[in-house]
Amino acid sequence: MSELNLILIGPPGAGKGTQAERLQRDLDVPFVSTGEMLRANVKQESALGKQAKRYMDAGDLVPDDLIVKMARERLQLEDAQDGFILDGFPRTLEQAEALDEMLSGLTRRVTAAVLIDVPDAEVERRLSGRRVCEKGGHNYHVEFDPPKRDSVCDEDGSPLVQREDDKPEVIRRRLAVYHEQTEPLISFYDDKGLLRRIDGTHDAADVHDHIRAVIATLRHEENV
Ligand code: AMP
Repeated sequence: MSELNLILIGPPGAGKGTQAERLQRDLDVPFVSTGEMLRANVKQESALGKQAKRYMDAGDLVPDDLIVKMARERLQLEDAQDGFILDGFPRTLEQAEALDEMLSGLTRRVTAAVLIDVPDAEVERRLSGRRVCEKGGHNYHVEFDPPKRDSVCDEDGSPLVQREDDKPEVIRRRLAVYHEQTEPLISFYDDKGLLRRIDGTHDAADVHDHIRAVIATLRHEENV
């Protein structure tokens, strides 16, 4: 297998961002988070950021056409040519089909879709305690993974904040959106034989080990 084009699927708060960060270090491929890209656009008050903000604040999905355009531009960059880890994209069937089309035009394909499975009650517990570093997007949890210094990022010393969309009523909306619009991707990738399920309720190190084992198997299967 010459490249690893990995998708991480899972409800909000499943730990996709945490795992993608760890995998990026192992695999030397870029980690592309559409959520992070959108938040950067909102911060810069770009045209895209202005369009996306109201959807994000409400816990709704940003329209497919905006997301697909943003993802296409990102995946065309040089650093994504030998593989990528996608966190938070695709999130609808339409996006998944658009991704397949983008890749097949380049004679590339999705290597696997890793589902990090976590029940709703656990999602609510995790997200309500999540704090994110303003600068680099590093994730913490007030209870399960606190920073060394209160409200300050260990990695870059910037302040930790609660995301607007980690407020309880928005969390519930995001979960509903996940079940309605993103869960259909599970059978989409399963039908193609690309789905790999991971129990996301274990701690981050165990989940990481499990994903690494899945990747090792994929590499073995593809005989490289
Ligand atoms: P995340 O950080 O992945 O939870 O994304 C935060 C928010 O950004 C989501 O609640 C959506 O409003 C928006 N978003 C991120 N990725 C996508 C996507 N692939 N499609 C639509 N909206 C997205």
